[in-house]
Amino acid sequence: METESATSIQEKKTILIVEDNDMNREILHDLLSDDFNVLLANNGLTGLKILEENYRTLSMILLDIYMPECNGFDFLERKWENSQLRAIPVIVMTASNTVEDEIRCLKLGASDFLSKPYNTEVMKNRIRSLIHLRETSSILNLLEKDTLTGLLSKEFYLHQVNNLLAKTPDEKYDLICSDIENFRRLNDRYGETKCDQFLSYLAKRLSSLLPDIVLAGRVGVDVFAFLIKHKNGDWAEDLLKNTVEEDTFPGVQLKYGLLPLVDTTLSATSLVNNATSAIKEIKGHYNTHLAVFDETFQKKLLRTHLIEEGMFDALKNKEFKVYYQPKHSVKDDTIVGAEALVRWEHPKLGFITPNVFIPIFEKNGFISELDYYVWEAVCKEIRNCLDIGFAIVPISVNVSRNDFDNPNMAGRLINLVDKYRIDHSLFHIELTESTSMDNLESICATCKKLHDAGFIIELDDFGSGYSALSSISLLNVDIMKLDVSLIHNASETKNYSLLRYAIQLAESMKLKTVAEGVEIEEQAMALRVLGCDYIQGYYYSKPLKREEFEPYLLEYESQKGEEHFNRIF
Ligand code: C2E
Ligand code: CA
Ligand code: CA
Repeated sequence: METESATSIQEKKTILIVEDNDMNREILHDLLSDDFNVLLANNGLTGLKILEENYRTLSMILLDIYMPECNGFDFLERKWENSQLRAIPVIVMTASNTVEDEIRCLKLGASDFLSKPYNTEVMKNRIRSLIHLRETSSILNLLEKDTLTGLLSKEFYLHQVNNLLAKTPDEKYDLICSDIENFRRLNDRYGETKCDQFLSYLAKRLSSLLPDIVLAGRVGVDVFAFLIKHKNGDWAEDLLKNTVEEDTFPGVQLKYGLLPLVDTTLSATSLVNNATSAIKEIKGHYNTHLAVFDETFQKKLLRTHLIEEGMFDALKNKEFKVYYQPKHSVKDDTIVGAEALVRWEHPKLGFITPNVFIPIFEKNGFISELDYYVWEAVCKEIRNCLDIGFAIVPISVNVSRNDFDNPNMAGRLINLVDKYRIDHSLFHIELTESTSMDNLESICATCKKLHDAGFIIELDDFGSGYSALSSISLLNVDIMKLDVSLIHNASETKNYSLLRYAIQLAESMKLKTVAEGVEIEEQAMALRVLGCDYIQGYYYSKPLKREEFEPYLLEYESQKGEEHFNRIF
């Protein structure tokens, strides 16, 4: 592994001269340009702009005080406000300035003064020694190496990456960050000493595994960053798959964020932030170890940002729309219920499906508000149908896992449904099967409360891969919804044994079954033969807008004449 050497201090440094007097500026330029790279600004504003664009490479500033438009004091003040710019030393050029002016400059962070007429050698030496002082002291301030892992310390690493990128803007680099999933929990489980040993081992392991490392640093407690020479292709996925043997540190899971072809105009901090934001996206995803911060990822990040930015207004402006997808009886085709499904008509992004925004809301907690909004919309719809006088079918709502282990949820829902004077049996609750894995006790308690109050509980997505049969038997469930994947797999492979088993299991638990995602006649026929009770899917209808759902209900009512609906329960 190569690192930058301290010899760079001897190289030609860049300085900025901020001076409004054309002649003075020219003179200074001529005096200094042999020894330094000189940038010129003819007023304070231009000076600040150049400073902001070049702060990573700029070693010091020569500043005139009296200038029109943003004078030297304003310049110093604005520079001081920005922590990135603050460290760059300034020599103030004085002519007939008063002691008060000098004190004011010192208070605003100026380092030294030079008075006219300038003595070239004095000036050059002052500039050199100031630059040297600043660089050695700031480097000394930064502990170069992290003692535990031997990688560069965070501050020093970021400093070195900034320097390198500024010096080699046309080179191609990739940045990789590693992160340990649930490191705090591992610390509790194994103790600090063992975790420290693992960190040290991991730093060595990755340093030997990754190709062409240019700079390596420890940028967080359990986060390492490697700047490497760019490598084409999908090499990282496999290379980083099994970085550590399972028995080296049981239970440890590593996540990586890769930034291909880093933008050399960005600061090292932004680059590391981008790589770690990619990692955040795959936290908790058991099968994914690498997130690439590419164009697709950035688009997704932007979309997530727009979604989070707009969610509160969306609720206020009624941009969320509730659709209703009918459920039909397999026996006689009658409509027996419907599921409420939310959609978002976003002013900028257009129509968005719940698969996009629900996971974001589950992460940031907004799902509770949205779910309550949907429940209330459903209450209004049922109340409206009851008032108009046509027989409504029971409507089911989805209840997010976040809500299910909230002990107040059942009470809130009961109050809401009662406010609209709706019989509880008309309101079904869909509980996602995967929910039943965590916090089983509180989920069981909520389930029981709702069931005892007369709500019908449907177990959603059964067979989607999270089955824990033991926990299902503990829940007060009335209906089992067979996941779309069970139906589609069966019809694709022509092997219905799993579907048959699921239906038999439901029968043995005295549960009714709803098959989801039924699209074609053949699937419906098979389900009828296997004894499934109800079907929900495009075969009968897509989810319908409220304005379409009501005529749909009426049509079925008229087909059935005076007969009542064959309702579920
Ligand atoms: P889900 O509860 O499993 O809902 C069924 C999904 O299957 C719906 O997708 C529905 O449009 C789709 N579907 C219906 N028939 C067919 C079919 O014949 N073929 C296929 N391929 N798909 C069909 P949707 O509306 O995009 O909803 C996706 C998921 O978002 C839902 O899955 C549910 O988990 C969640 N969701 C929807 N609305 C809400 C809500 O108000 N609150 C919460 N917490 N989650 C919701
Ligand atoms: Ca559902
Ligand atoms: Ca489902």
